[in-house]
Amino acid sequence: MISEKGKVFLVGAGPGDPNLATLRTREIIFKCDVLVYDHLANPEFRKWAPPDCEQIDVGKSPGRHTVAQEEIGKILVGKASDDLMVVRLKGGDPFVFGRCAEEMSVLDDAGIDYEIIPGVTAALACAAYAGIPLSHRDYGSSISFLTGHEDVTKESLRVDFAKFADVGGTLCIYMGMSKIEEIVTSLLQGGMPQDKPAAIVSNGTLPTQRHLRCNLGDIVQMSQSYDLKAPAIIFVGNAVGLSFRKSWFEDRPLFGRRIAITRSTSQNSNMKSKLEELGSEVLELPLIEILPTEDRTLVAEVFAGIATYEWVIFTSANGAREFMRLFFLAYGDIRSFGPMRIACVGEATAAIFRAYSLEVELIPKVSTAENLAQELVATDSLDSANVLVITGNRNREVLVSMLETVGHAIVDVLPLYDTDFYDVSKAEDLEKFRSKGADAIIFTSSSTALSFIEQEEDLILEKTAQKPVYFSFGPETSKTLKENNLAVAAESDQPSMESMIKTLISQFAK
Ligand code: SAH
Repeated sequence: MISEKGKVFLVGAGPGDPNLATLRTREIIFKCDVLVYDHLANPEFRKWAPPDCEQIDVGKSPGRHTVAQEEIGKILVGKASDDLMVVRLKGGDPFVFGRCAEEMSVLDDAGIDYEIIPGVTAALACAAYAGIPLSHRDYGSSISFLTGHEDVTKESLRVDFAKFADVGGTLCIYMGMSKIEEIVTSLLQGGMPQDKPAAIVSNGTLPTQRHLRCNLGDIVQMSQSYDLKAPAIIFVGNAVGLSFRKSWFEDRPLFGRRIAITRSTSQNSNMKSKLEELGSEVLELPLIEILPTEDRTLVAEVFAGIATYEWVIFTSANGAREFMRLFFLAYGDIRSFGPMRIACVGEATAAIFRAYSLEVELIPKVSTAENLAQELVATDSLDSANVLVITGNRNREVLVSMLETVGHAIVDVLPLYDTDFYDVSKAEDLEKFRSKGADAIIFTSSSTALSFIEQEEDLILEKTAQKPVYFSFGPETSKTLKENNLAVAAESDQPSMESMIKTLISQFAK
């Protein structure tokens, strides 16, 4: 195999949405030693890098060159010479206005190997995500990529736009916003009609995407009144004028919403991807962490006597998952589960057993420990029965005491995990949350709410940040929030992600 050490990967990150990265890009970032990135590459990519990867920001904003091109070359050569695997991540495609050629020359001169990985360039991605066709059998049969430039220190345009006025087809103009007036004037002077269809897509493929369609003659004034800013692509051409009923990307029900989720990192990923599919930007603010705690002697005793229990009761999906893991370690065969009846606090917990075709006999109508206990008592099957309760370290007292004192059951408790407060100052998205705020925070349990309250000082928002409203997964969580003077905007019917998503949509859909 050719060594990846001492090599530089010139990688296209795509326009913003991390889902548009190529498989190769993802694979390479997962194992690199050094990641050199600029500001157009979505920060999400940096989360893919290994924990010990050195990350170097060489970002350039319009008019502000953080690290000169020459310096970037030196960094790439230096790191590769130390026999490290170096990724140079660039927005969009490395060869489309990405200064890739200059970096290749520097690497060539230093005798360093490189690989180039293409990316989805902004013009193609913006067109797709705003539903703007770039070509059409009848309206456009060529596509040009042009650059204005956003380096305000440079006086004149690089491209003679007047010459492109009668090239035909579709013009895709990168880095054009700061010079839009000159670009449009030049196109009109070159003979392009005022009513030529045009469009601007800003922040394409991101939750902050906005777009505008109008005539070329109106575009300068319209872009100002829409307050469209860089990064943006300006499109001009007849195909651009074709309009369609729906904007598939911007019309999604949670589009443009920023939602903070507070579960432990290990539980969050499914929720994050569901919310993103619906259009929202997701901030991960893990407020709790779930740590397995097994008392081996106790686990051994419980499993030895497993056939003696009439009910086994699960108060959370974490407990259920951990129980099944230990069960299979001990027995290796589902038939050893025996005849005990299963009760679960809610649907998500029950789903874990259904996956093994085990019947769940009781799920309370409202998913709280109290309701679970009440409905178990109501089955009239607890008197002198051996009952096993699988829990964490929180909120088990009510359940156990009701089963014992009201139901007269003989209860064994097997704690399988601890819920601890997670130090939110370690959360990668904390800075963004504090500076931008959010539309909503979702609290999945009382412990996430309590942790939020305890760590209030770390979570203080900047003045201009958006103040979020609070959503709760169920009555217990709402109670904890309210007891601490935090108003609850809405509570989901069930403590499940599906139900929470319905609630969010009903609150937020336009
Ligand atoms: N190599 C990049 C382009 C770099 S030049 C590519 O292939 O896409 C930077 C310009 O790209 C910006 O000024 C803007 O015109 C465009 N651009 C990059 N990302 C964009 C985005 N998400 N939305 C709109 N335009 C974008």
